Amino acid sequence: MESPEVTFTLAYVVFSVCFVFTPNEFHSAGITVQNLLSGWLGSEDLAFVHYHIRRSSATLLIHSLLPMGYFIGMCFAAPEKELYYIHKATEGWKVFVLVAVILPLVTSTVAFYWSQKRWSNHPLARTLAHHALPQSRWRAVASSINTEFRRIDKFATGVPGARVIVTDTWVIKATTYKVYVAQQQDIHLTVTDSRQHELSPESNTPVQFITIQVASINPKVKPFDIRLNSTEYGELREKLHAPVRNAANVVIHQTLSDLFLETFRSLVETNRVYDLPSNQELEPCIGCMQTSASIKLVKNCQEAEEGECQQCYCRPMWCLTCMGKWFASRQDQQHPETWLSSQVPCPTCRARFCIVDVCIVW
Ligand SMILES: [Zn+2]
Ligand SMILES: [Zn+2]
Ligand SMILES: [Zn+2]
Repeated sequence: MESPEVTFTLAYVVFSVCFVFTPNEFHSAGITVQNLLSGWLGSEDLAFVHYHIRRSSATLLIHSLLPMGYFIGMCFAAPEKELYYIHKATEGWKVFVLVAVILPLVTSTVAFYWSQKRWSNHPLARTLAHHALPQSRWRAVASSINTEFRRIDKFATGVPGARVIVTDTWVIKATTYKVYVAQQQDIHLTVTDSRQHELSPESNTPVQFITIQVASINPKVKPFDIRLNSTEYGELREKLHAPVRNAANVVIHQTLSDLFLETFRSLVETNRVYDLPSNQELEPCIGCMQTSASIKLVKNCQEAEEGECQQCYCRPMWCLTCMGKWFASRQDQQHPETWLSSQVPCPTCRARFCIVDVCIVW
């Protein structure tokens, strides 16, 4: 039996991590700073900048109260320790309580300083001031952003802790504590990285995330990275006026079929290979005529008479890419989670095959 202290500590750590990093489950349950303070924060749609100024300040303040919450909770979870008589507690607890008191004092002082002169000291207001024309002030920039954010043709994506918003004039990234802003006419965009999560029984859709660095020619605007799903890349490009450089030569898979091809290829590479009889020669792939055929369908998934798959007697006629495209094209586009387990007909003889039956000719 675990002690209530340990149970409480574990539960509090999990709660704190979820509260700070807000996974989807917490969002749907409404346990976020945005939801708890929605009345005071106002509407993001009506006043984007003011909403985020208040949201980031409140988030900082509330997160800094978490250690104090742990101490108060512990007083109840382990009453025998009599922690509320702090002068009698251990050195470790004294230090913890000191930190738990100082932290919110520091953050509330900072937040109070930010709120002075109608929030002109807030980092976001200062960021916006870097974009203000000499004769105007940060509030003019804020109202330009507010107006453009209200338009429905903006590009918006990302998880709540790292949202990306692109409007006609601005590229904005809103994270938990900080909001990054760059003006479209000043920026260079570079694709720097990509990460692919392949289609697997655990994750039912293949996804590729690409990282784009946003660098401004305005020396006061520090470069920042935005991340998005590769399938949204086309939409982002439409919203951007500047070209996007691809320094890392990242292959961007913009459709589900593109993404699937990667998975298909890597799975087929682990399948059994097919030894080409010595009297046969490989012809060019009849799909693309670019490379020689390299795939033979051999029923390997089950015994000859079992299951839905059938033996195909065609000679190798297709390359791996064309076979992957064929396989993807015969799938239910709405249900990628079924792709790996389904059978499709051979493009030539219509014998049904599954992904295990796709063999690379050796
Ligand atoms: Zn081909
Ligand atoms: Zn066939
Ligand atoms: Zn099969």
